Amino acid sequence: MSVADYEVDYSEVTGRKVECPSECGMCCLCQPEVLPEERAFFRTNHPDALVKAKGPEPYFALALKKGCGSCVFLDGRRCKVYDHRTAYCRQFPFHLYASDRIKVELDLSCRGAWTGAGVDALAEAKDIVARADRRIVSALEESTAVYREFYANCREAGVMAVPSGLRMSVSENLSMFTDLAYLSRIMDMAQIEPLMSLAGIQPERNLDIPSLEEAGRDSALESMSSSDPLSVPVYCDPQWNWNMFMATEDRIVWNVMDDDGDLHMKGEADPMDIRLRIPDAAGRHVLSEYIQTLNGRDSFMGSVFALMDENGYEDDMSNAYYGCLSVTVMDLLWRMSMLDHFMGIGCGADAVREAIIFYDMDRLDAPTIGAFV
Ligand code: SF4
Ligand code: SF4
Repeated sequence: MSVADYEVDYSEVTGRKVECPSECGMCCLCQPEVLPEERAFFRTNHPDALVKAKGPEPYFALALKKGCGSCVFLDGRRCKVYDHRTAYCRQFPFHLYASDRIKVELDLSCRGAWTGAGVDALAEAKDIVARADRRIVSALEESTAVYREFYANCREAGVMAVPSGLRMSVSENLSMFTDLAYLSRIMDMAQIEPLMSLAGIQPERNLDIPSLEEAGRDSALESMSSSDPLSVPVYCDPQWNWNMFMATEDRIVWNVMDDDGDLHMKGEADPMDIRLRIPDAAGRHVLSEYIQTLNGRDSFMGSVFALMDENGYEDDMSNAYYGCLSVTVMDLLWRMSMLDHFMGIGCGADAVREAIIFYDMDRLDAPTIGAFV
């Protein structure tokens, strides 16, 4: 078998461009895996830079400055071993997600995906897929079997829905997911209705902002709840600072990491003091485009499926999908509110865009039943 025998969906990257501004270096804060065929170069030339990283299965990776900063090869935000960088480094900001097909997804935490300049993303993605052929086929063999088993479990539990139907329903009702009055109702229904549909949903008349705030805050803080810089999301701001927000007990501490891997504290806040900001019309437009991107992502669907599996197939797939999408939107809006609290970014189109840049790496990192290649 080769990748030509499988469906590859490029819709997320079609019509986009990507570049890598020289000031960024944000993706070099992730510890890249070194594939077996890449190890010889590092073993021979930089033996100290090759380390064993811990994971469900241990793997070889590149060392980080001070154990938690950027990759040791990042120098002045440029790569010192550019021609020998790993496949992971070459691939970023593209992600290849294997379910019962391959979906090429674009990491919107990369600022180079937003400039509208650079190389054609579709051509780049096709090249990456061709180079990863062997890894893709082996990942697909496993993920196809996992998906088959997941669908069988759903049918047996009577919670199956048609994924393409759920996506179509969200597309047709996209504006609901940017309107807090609808979101509130969707989240309630996802919990109490045995089998929910978006048809005929009425907006919540008495909007309970504190409970919406709580939904966003709980979800956002879950990913920031660590004092380990390696475990928290990085927000690369327009001035190319690497911001890290670490939640400990009742505080959020805002740090900026410098190029040597040292943290500098910039501020702190009680999460309860952060008031939910509601995006203006231009912000809602940017938000709706992002929701549409998530709605088309197989990794997002896979993360909903992972949640269903974790919860023992108690919820119908429709409830799980609409509910998860609503919480995702609240998480994003809470992060926008937090950035506004610390940095005064507002709640317009630019603010929503910054929140997506902050959030998307977390979204792509969510547990899923498929696999990133
Ligand atoms: S995150 Fe994007 S822009 Fe930044 S260094 Fe990586 S590829 Fe370049
Ligand atoms: S090898 Fe180069 S591109 Fe890859 S993470 Fe290290 S510095 Fe960045």
